[in-house]
Amino acid sequence: MRKKNVLLVTGNFPPGIGGMQSYYHNLCLESKHQITVLAPHYPDDEAFDAKQPYDIIRGRFFQNESIQPSGWGRMFRMAKKTIEERSIDITIYGYVLIGFVGWLLSVFGGHKYMVSTHGKDMLEFKKIPVLRTLTKMILKRADGVLTNSEYTRNLVEEYGVPRSKIHIVNPGVEEHFEIREKDPVLVERFGLKDKFVMMTLSRLVRRKGHDMVIQAMPEILKQIPEAVYLIVGDGPEKERLQQLAQSCGVQNAVIFAGRASDGEEIHKFYNTCDLFIMASRHLKVKGDVEGFGIVFLEASCCGKPVVAGNSGGIAEAVLHNETGLLIDPNSVEDISSSVIKLYKDDELRERLVDRAYKRAKSEFKYSYLASIMDSCISMICDKVRPTGRSAKVKESK
Ligand code: GDP
Repeated sequence: MRKKNVLLVTGNFPPGIGGMQSYYHNLCLESKHQITVLAPHYPDDEAFDAKQPYDIIRGRFFQNESIQPSGWGRMFRMAKKTIEERSIDITIYGYVLIGFVGWLLSVFGGHKYMVSTHGKDMLEFKKIPVLRTLTKMILKRADGVLTNSEYTRNLVEEYGVPRSKIHIVNPGVEEHFEIREKDPVLVERFGLKDKFVMMTLSRLVRRKGHDMVIQAMPEILKQIPEAVYLIVGDGPEKERLQQLAQSCGVQNAVIFAGRASDGEEIHKFYNTCDLFIMASRHLKVKGDVEGFGIVFLEASCCGKPVVAGNSGGIAEAVLHNETGLLIDPNSVEDISSSVIKLYKDDELRERLVDRAYKRAKSEFKYSYLASIMDSCISMICDKVRPTGRSAKVKESK
């Protein structure tokens, strides 16, 4: 396989935190192609960039991971310059709308591009006619589309993209996630000794369903008096969740740990909990949805049983009754009964944990997932775009 020069343009990249950020970073680390990333600035990006084996160019076209009106021109110029200077074979856009730059460079320069989507953008733009049309146009001209799950692939198909053009590259788990002892420092700091620790680790946004778990706590505490709900992460929902814990009378059993500082601390948190739960739900009005849910696999690699909201692409990350329990994220009753069931049934818990660990370790390795992405890139780069009469016939079909 000849190495291709690949440009990845994304607004979601470390040291920013989140699923997309770690997805792109790990694919870049494992890819056999020569990857250059065009990403936004973060306060501590220099230290991060210096450690990476691939090149990162930072630009001021995004603010808080959203593109600014003035950022479009800058992004276009930077992408064009990088493509020319580095003889880029193909560019991947890590969000459908920024693929508009790819569309322009394709129409006016014949440059190949792919769009990578995590589902949320597909849903968000469906309801706004002008964005829907733009999305369709960008997807139609793209040489390929990468999706994080079958669920997202189906959303892309709804825009009329043929399945043959869509390639699924699931998020993976970083190899360092492993089963360890509970971390004594965290146990001490948050008073977790002899507690049954249920944990959610995520940004504090509505979609993640922390509020439903808090509302399930009174019922859980009746059956498991030593239960605590450890919320790791930060975000706009924090205050509302704190108030909710008060009004449900469970403020002493809900712990807000704040944001985990880095990968090592995340690892310690996973290993310090007894059960990982995230009741993610589909927020239909906002078009907000979980495209996959990598945290469930991270928890599985640390040997923790998982309870997951059955929404979006989560049923691909967690197989119901095989690698965890899927629950109705809008049902407090379902949440409490599943937690209690896992707490009480040792045989069930061990079976799920064992299967989940093996699956996460074998099917979600970044080295394997990057090889899927690499093959798609090679295949698309080596394919000659139809030109002239044959192209016109194809376009008119
Ligand atoms: P998404 O961000 O909504 O796409 O959620 P995912 O579940 O797909 O991915 C979240 C990723 O961010 C996982 O790899 C988590 O380990 C990571 N993450 C979540 N919360 C924190 C945090 O507080 N600190 C750090 N360092 N990483 C976090």
